[in-house]
Amino acid sequence: MLPLEEATQRILRTLQSTEAEIVPLSAAAGRILATNLKATVNLPAFDNSSMDGYAVRAADAATGAHLRQIGEALAGTVFTGEVDEGQCVRIFTGSPMPTGANAVVMQEDARAEGDSIEITDGVKPFENVRLRGEDVKEGDLIGKVGDILTAGHLSLLGSCGFAEVTVHRRPIIGLLATGDELREPGAALDPGEIYESNRLTLARLVEQASATPRIFPIVADTLEATAASLQEAFAKCDAVVTSGGVSVGEHDYVKEALEKMGGSLDFWKVRIKPGKPFVFGQLDDKPLFGLPGNPVSAFVTFLVLVRPGIIRMAGGTETSLPSYPSKLAAPLVNHGDRRHFMRVHVDNEGNAQPTGLQASHAVGTLGKANGLVDVPPWTTLEEGSIEPILRWSP
Ligand code: AMP
Ligand code: MG
Repeated sequence: MLPLEEATQRILRTLQSTEAEIVPLSAAAGRILATNLKATVNLPAFDNSSMDGYAVRAADAATGAHLRQIGEALAGTVFTGEVDEGQCVRIFTGSPMPTGANAVVMQEDARAEGDSIEITDGVKPFENVRLRGEDVKEGDLIGKVGDILTAGHLSLLGSCGFAEVTVHRRPIIGLLATGDELREPGAALDPGEIYESNRLTLARLVEQASATPRIFPIVADTLEATAASLQEAFAKCDAVVTSGGVSVGEHDYVKEALEKMGGSLDFWKVRIKPGKPFVFGQLDDKPLFGLPGNPVSAFVTFLVLVRPGIIRMAGGTETSLPSYPSKLAAPLVNHGDRRHFMRVHVDNEGNAQPTGLQASHAVGTLGKANGLVDVPPWTTLEEGSIEPILRWSP
């Protein structure tokens, strides 16, 4: 049985990022940058007003002064005149500063009577002025290889005028579920049958890892069916994730099918709970991740073992799950000899409440959870202790 870190390292060492492609910025959200980006402009691009008011020479605009308005600087236009002693220009937020002016009196601090403007609260030089380049300077690094493009990045890159960016192709991840007992959601169930739920769950997690899921039909528990499905999925995808059929039962065919097809098995046991049986192998340089079938086992092994690999394939550099400290609202006890990833719900105040039954089939407590606590073997984490909580979504 491999320790988790070693298993993850082996996976990361094996995998390579997809090739780069150019996409419009409007389609780049969630994609991963394949090049560094430098600003080719200054932001702001020109000195401009941060207020609606009057552009003035600060030395003339003491409290009580009267100035003469000589024109208007509208957004999107440049005032062509020059502000001289005793003069001001009506200005709006974002308008370029007129030549000669070095501050803006906000309109709440001025009283207008025709073109005579009384200053009721004076200004210092550069007050209410946004200076060229104070935010971003030409040449600044504004995106790095491996960054996942967020809404914030889009704001920055869009403001700098980027119309397209070079990102990694989203890897296509084939999702297979094995098991004779499994039926599609919505189908009528015969006795002993259950609904298949791993593929759609994993599809969401794949999307959140900057990749594209592709769902294949449910696979019967035979060697032939398993091999045929794997064959098809490998032909159409960059990586394949299966669920079920990796334990030691006579009807667990994933490992055997991979080997029969000429693939190689790297390892198949990791010292974590839930999820001890976990297969990592390759066929023609494409990875196979074989997850256990129990829904929580599939979920957790995906997050700690597959997600890093997929992010690496998608070009990302930040492969581990984000973790934030929170206070345990109840103790968590691990009586076993493997790290146990336990389900909790963290509220907006940062209190982490265990969601209940921690068994690997228990989806009731998975549905309520938004975080995992990595509880070491033979360990009790006390109520009130501050623990890192692994999160997979906000
Ligand atoms: P297995 O790993 O194939 O031995 O399956 C372990 C347990 O998980 C069994 O109770 C299966 O019925 C259940 N299971 C396997 N695959 C799925 C799936 N795709 N959706 C829901 N439950 C599953
Ligand atoms: Mg099975």
